[in-house]
Amino acid sequence: MQLVPISLPGKQSLNRPADGVMGCGVMSSSSPRFLHDLGFAEVEAALQADGVRAHHAKALWRAIQREGALDLAARDFSPPLQRWVAARVGEGREFCLDAPDLVREIHSGDGLTRKFLLRQRDGQETETVLMGYDGRHTACVSSQAGCAMGCVFCATGQMGFARHLRPGEIVAQVLYARRVLMATQAGRRLRNLVLMGMGEPLHNYDAVMHALDIISDVRGIGIGPSRISISTVGVVPGILRLAEEGRPYRLAVSLHGSTEEERSALVPASKKWPLAELIAACREYGRITGKRIFFEWTLIAGKNDSPDTARRLAELLRGIDSHVNLIPLNPTSGFDGRAADPGPGREFQRILLAAGFPCTFRQRRGIDVAAGCGQLKAEKVRRPAQAAEA
Ligand code: SF4
Repeated sequence: MQLVPISLPGKQSLNRPADGVMGCGVMSSSSPRFLHDLGFAEVEAALQADGVRAHHAKALWRAIQREGALDLAARDFSPPLQRWVAARVGEGREFCLDAPDLVREIHSGDGLTRKFLLRQRDGQETETVLMGYDGRHTACVSSQAGCAMGCVFCATGQMGFARHLRPGEIVAQVLYARRVLMATQAGRRLRNLVLMGMGEPLHNYDAVMHALDIISDVRGIGIGPSRISISTVGVVPGILRLAEEGRPYRLAVSLHGSTEEERSALVPASKKWPLAELIAACREYGRITGKRIFFEWTLIAGKNDSPDTARRLAELLRGIDSHVNLIPLNPTSGFDGRAADPGPGREFQRILLAAGFPCTFRQRRGIDVAAGCGQLKAEKVRRPAQAAEA
């Protein structure tokens, strides 16, 4: 798979659906539309366009977005809505639903993490994770199939970019995780959402924001905006746009390096959006929104875990309301680095705490289930290759 050049994400270019994925996987101006792509007002408009009164949208939206229905024909809707569904929804009709197929599922040894490899209609496979700890359940979803950012330690980055996901494909992952949660732990609610799966969310800005509008709508899934985190590797125009638009979500920025050289060796996107520019954008984001930024730091032995690096990081973040999350490296086959040892890791944390920054270690939720994004897919690709070599 080829790496796709990162185009500067202007307002129009961020979420252009990839060729061949419009409608039900068929590229055509008259292709069907996906109901999961539609916000509440768009569902109302679709019904009204066919002469069905707007108030029927509530029942349709509830079935799709709250109850996660996959077979609308079997629902006990009012007669006008039943007729609309029969005429308009299904293969070969104007509308259809996103229902990704499960390719593979694995669980962590402690049973708290479940990871799903899901196949989209065009065959692209993406990962979704359901994590349960401290009585809270969090879904981690993908925003793209593959990723163009190429972070050297990341299994998804090692694959390259395939395409952006549509809003409905992002929404459908949350609904999938919620269905699993309801089936396995009835009564538990999915409370949190993180966009830390495959892909760079701010490289697919419009689709991601539309998906989050749908996911946070209290008439549907209803995850509160303050419980939704967007993780970016540092797409500067996207960070500024989040601030300008007053988006209410939490922002996490992956730094991984305290100098331009250190960072761009791990994060090639740093060549496009240099560290100084990124930090300036974070300052501006903080100034406009007044919100704290979570800085993610993957600790890699000998690369970015020294006391000097920790001191430079503290200097860099001075004046920004920051929380630093330290993440031990998840090993991947395409990168020969290893996780920082506990001693240097603790010293790194001590320096940041002493400089006044909240700094925590991210729990390793399911290192034994290929916890890093893209690892389950990479493993699936590698296995047949290994079998062929044997
Ligand atoms: S870490 Fe995130 S941004 Fe970097 S390559 Fe992986 S998925 Fe993309």
